[in-house]
Order: sequence, then structure tokens, then C-alpha cells
Amino acid sequence: MRYAVISDIHSNSEALEAVLADVATQDIDKYLSTGDVVGYGADPEACLSRLRALDPVVVAGNHDWAVAGRLSLDFFNAYAREAIEWTRGRLDSESVRWLASLPLTAKVGEITLAHATVHGPENFDYLLTAYDAHLSLEVLDTAVCFVGHSHVPVTFSQNGTVTFSFATEIDLAGCAKAIVNAGSVGQPRDGNPHASYGVYDSDERRVVVRRVPYDIASASRKILAAGLPQILAERLWHGK
Ligand code: ZN
Repeated sequence: MRYAVISDIHSNSEALEAVLADVATQDIDKYLSTGDVVGYGADPEACLSRLRALDPVVVAGNHDWAVAGRLSLDFFNAYAREAIEWTRGRLDSESVRWLASLPLTAKVGEITLAHATVHGPENFDYLLTAYDAHLSLEVLDTAVCFVGHSHVPVTFSQNGTVTFSFATEIDLAGCAKAIVNAGSVGQPRDGNPHASYGVYDSDERRVVVRRVPYDIASASRKILAAGLPQILAERLWHGK
């Protein structure tokens, strides 16, 4: 099976469309998403309907649950909060129900999905260090796990010790378990502004992180036109 891992879209329709055009060249069987379909960007409903039409397996991001009223806004900084409240006013009730229905974790064969961590997905902590990864790998009961949340593409693998890699082509055949962040479609934060997503081939046990340029000018213009915080438009240019 070949999976496309499309995460942290964050209401960025331009980035999502560019990624899906690239996905079309990748012979994909199934779509996976580790959440944060909405929040920050100006096209929440368009991104939701486009993603849902792909019949993906999706887990809840903190922005998804906050928009749906399942997570307190106290967990967010001021501009994230503003975007969440703005998003709420632009979704129809069926979309809100769908966001509320998303689970914290999901399993697809030998793959686990979680937005934040495996060891405490409800806390929405960032999985950034080898120690964070160790805690999640301890409880992970599948060979591979995809996470999102940090918007930084990175792989943590366990083979006795936990190591991490920023490689964009990752061979998992030799490692016992691995946690992979395939990056963010709609708001990359690793200094590269191009949209990021993953292709996982479960037969070859191989992940490729793909970067796709998209129309940042249009996405950031829409954020400003919507009256959302200026920083949310500016950061897209810097991939931060
Ligand atoms: Zn996110």
C-alpha cells in the first residue's frame, strides 16, 4: 500500500491543492492525516471538504478540537485563538460535528496516527526531543507512527537507542519502530516555506517527505483580507 500523509493543512487551500496535484503523481492508495485541518488560514470549509472527499483516516489536531469546542482556548496564544474563533464562524454545523468526531489516535494496519504524542495525545504536547520520542515509542504498538503538531519534518527511530534524522528519504526496514513527522502542508515551520507531506510505502517500509511550492502570495493575501492577524500571513513566506 502507498499512503499520502497530509497533515497540519491549517485552512491553506493553495498549499493543499498544490500538494494534491503532486500526490496525483505518486500512485497513492490511501490518505492519512494527523490533524489540524483548520486554524490559522482563510479557507477552512474548502480544505475540510477537499480532504473529506479523499476518504482519509484523520485524527484530531488541537485546532480541530478547539474549533469544535472540545478543547479550551486557554491552550492557545492570542493569534491562534483569534483564528480559531474566526474559523468557528465560517464552518457549517455539519463540518463542526465532523471535527468534533475526530479521535485522538487511529490505527491503519501497522500504522498509528496521533497529532501530538502517542503517550499522551490528549495533552497536545510537542514531540521534539529524543526523550519525548522515547516516551511515545515505549507505548507504540505498531511499527510506524505518524504525528504532526510541530510542523517540522523529522523521524525518530528506535533500534536499541532512539535516534533522529531530518532525511527526506527514510528507510524504515532496518528499525524496530519509528515515529515520523512528515511536516505541515499549510504552515511549514522548518525554515522552508514549501508545503510538506509524506508518502509511505508499507511494502518497502520507506517514507519520502516531499516539498511542494505553492501560491504563498494568494494564501497570505486571503489571510489579511479576512482580517486575521498579520503574523499568520507573514510567517508563510518564511516557513516559520
Ligand atoms: Zn498544527
